[in-house]
Amino acid sequence: MTQTESPAAAAGGAGEGAATFDSIDPRTGEVVGGYPVHDAAYVRSAVDSAREASRWWAGLGFDGRRKLLGAWRKLLVSRIDRIADLVSAETGKPRDDARVELVLAIDHLAWAARHAERVLGRRKVSSGLLMSNQAATVAYPPYGVIGVIGPWNYPVFTPMGSIGYALAAGNAVVFKPSELTPGIGHALAETFAEAVFGGGHRKPVFTVVTGLGETGAALCRSGVDKLAFTGSTATGKRVMAACAESLTPVLVECGGKDPLIVDADADLDAAADAAVWGGMSNAGQTCVGVERVYVVEPVADEFLARVVRRAEALRPGGEPTADFGPMTMPSQADVVAGQLRDALDRGATAVVGGTVSVRPPFVEPVVLTDVPEDSTAITQETFGPLLTVNRVADVEDAVARANATAYGLGASVFSARRGEEIAARLRCGMVAVNGVITFAGVPALPFGGVGDSGFGRIHGEDGLREFARAQAVTRQRFAPPIAVTTFTRRKNAIGRLLTLVRALYGR
Ligand code: NDP
Repeated sequence: MTQTESPAAAAGGAGEGAATFDSIDPRTGEVVGGYPVHDAAYVRSAVDSAREASRWWAGLGFDGRRKLLGAWRKLLVSRIDRIADLVSAETGKPRDDARVELVLAIDHLAWAARHAERVLGRRKVSSGLLMSNQAATVAYPPYGVIGVIGPWNYPVFTPMGSIGYALAAGNAVVFKPSELTPGIGHALAETFAEAVFGGGHRKPVFTVVTGLGETGAALCRSGVDKLAFTGSTATGKRVMAACAESLTPVLVECGGKDPLIVDADADLDAAADAAVWGGMSNAGQTCVGVERVYVVEPVADEFLARVVRRAEALRPGGEPTADFGPMTMPSQADVVAGQLRDALDRGATAVVGGTVSVRPPFVEPVVLTDVPEDSTAITQETFGPLLTVNRVADVEDAVARANATAYGLGASVFSARRGEEIAARLRCGMVAVNGVITFAGVPALPFGGVGDSGFGRIHGEDGLREFARAQAVTRQRFAPPIAVTTFTRRKNAIGRLLTLVRALYGR
C-alpha cells in the first residue's frame, strides 16, 4: 500500500500536510482513490462526536430507527450497481459477485431493523416462586459507540454484519475499513447519511476513519464501548490485547479452515459443484470458503473426477465475465505458492494446476489430493483458490480430521441420509448440509466461530444482542410473604424458607 505525504486527498481529511494512502485496483494497479491516515487524536475525536450522536440515535427508539434504516436500505438498493463497481475496483472481484454481496448485506440490514424491537425490547420474565412478589423484566439497551474494524475480502457484507446490527440496536458506529477498501467504507457511511439526514445537518451516527493498522489500533484505544473486529486471527489477538487495557469488550470474527465432508450416499455432482464454488469463488478469499475436502473412499474417484472437470474450466481475470478476480492483497499469492510447494514437497499430487498456476496478481485454480495432514495447506488458512481433497476411510475419519484444526468457523456436509447427524459432531459455528455457505445468507442465523476463528456472533438474534447490554429490572408488586433480606426479619423466617425449599427441591 502506498503511503504518501501529501494533502489529504479524500473525504474526512486529516488536514493539510497529513499522510494519505491510496487504494489500488488489484486488477490493473491503478489508483482508485486517496484517503487520509487518521491518527489517534482524530480517531478519539470521531468517537467523542459519535457518542454525542448516539444519544440522539438511541432516543429515536426502535420505530424511529427502523424507518431511517429502511430509508438507507432503499437507497442502497438503488445504488447496488454503483457500489458494486467500487467493490470491483477495490477488490478486483467480478461485478456480479459484488452485486450478490450487496444483496446479502441489504437482506441482513432489513432483518436487523425489523427484528430489533422483538429481540432487544423490554420483556417480562418469570420471577420464580421464591421471588413471586417481584415483577421481573429484561431489556437490551445499546452500548453507545461501537468501533467496527473490517477486512477487505467482503468489504460490504462482512462489516455490515456488525454495522447494520449495531445501528439497529441503537448504537452509533465508527468504522475503520481495511486499507485496501477505504472507498467502500466511505460509500456505506455516505449513503447512510444521505438517507437519514438528506440535505440537512448530518449527525455523526455512522462515520468512517481511514488509515493503516495503526488507525485500527487507535480505534481499540479510543474509548469505544465495544469493538467488533473481523480479520485474521493474528490481528484479532492484537485487537484483544489493545482492548484489554481499558476492559473494552470485543467481538472477534477471524479466519477459518473450513472442511467439506462427502459421504458415500451424497449427490456427487452437487458436492463437487459446492466444493469448487466454495473453494474458488472470490479467488478463495472467503473466511467460510471451503479449504479442505474429505471424501469417503468408495466415492472418492468419482467425486474427484467431477471436481477436476469443474475446476479446470475456471479462469481468473480482470474482466466482468471472469470466474473470479485477482488476489486482492498482492502478498497473498506468496502464501498460496508457499503452501503449494510445501504440500508437493511432502508428497501431495496436483490434479488441477500446480506451481505455474500462481501468476500474480492472479492465481489459477489448484486442486491437490493426498495432502499430508501436517502440511501447511491443511493446517493454515490459505485464502486462495487452492482446494485440498483427501480420501478418508469413513465418515468417522472425516469428522476426526475436520475437527483436527485450531480453527472452527464453518463447514459443509454432503450426505443424503446423515447430514444433520454429521453436522452435530463438527466443532464449528456453522454448518451447511447439502450446500455451501448457505448459513451466511439466512439473516436469522448467528454467524461466528470457535477457537482460532474467534468468538461472539454477528447476524440473527445473537448478533443483535452482541451490540446491547442486558439490563435486568425487578419491581416489587407486594411485600414478600417470607421477608429474609432485612435486618428486621422474623426469627422463624429462615426456617419457613428452608421448609419451602425442602418441599420444592428436596424430593
Ligand atoms: P487483517 O487482520 O490483516 O486486517 C483486518 C482489519 O484489521 C483491517 O482493517 C486492518 O487494517 C486492521 N488492523 C491491522 N492491524 C491492526 C491492529 N494492530 N489493530 C487494529 N486493527 C488492525 O485481515 P484482512 O483484512 O487481511 O482480512 C482477511 C482475514 O479476515 C482472513 O483471515 C479472513 O478469514 C478473515 N475474515 C473473517 C471473517 C469472519 O466473519 N470470521 C469474514 C471475513 C474475513 P489494515 O487493512 O489497514 O491493515
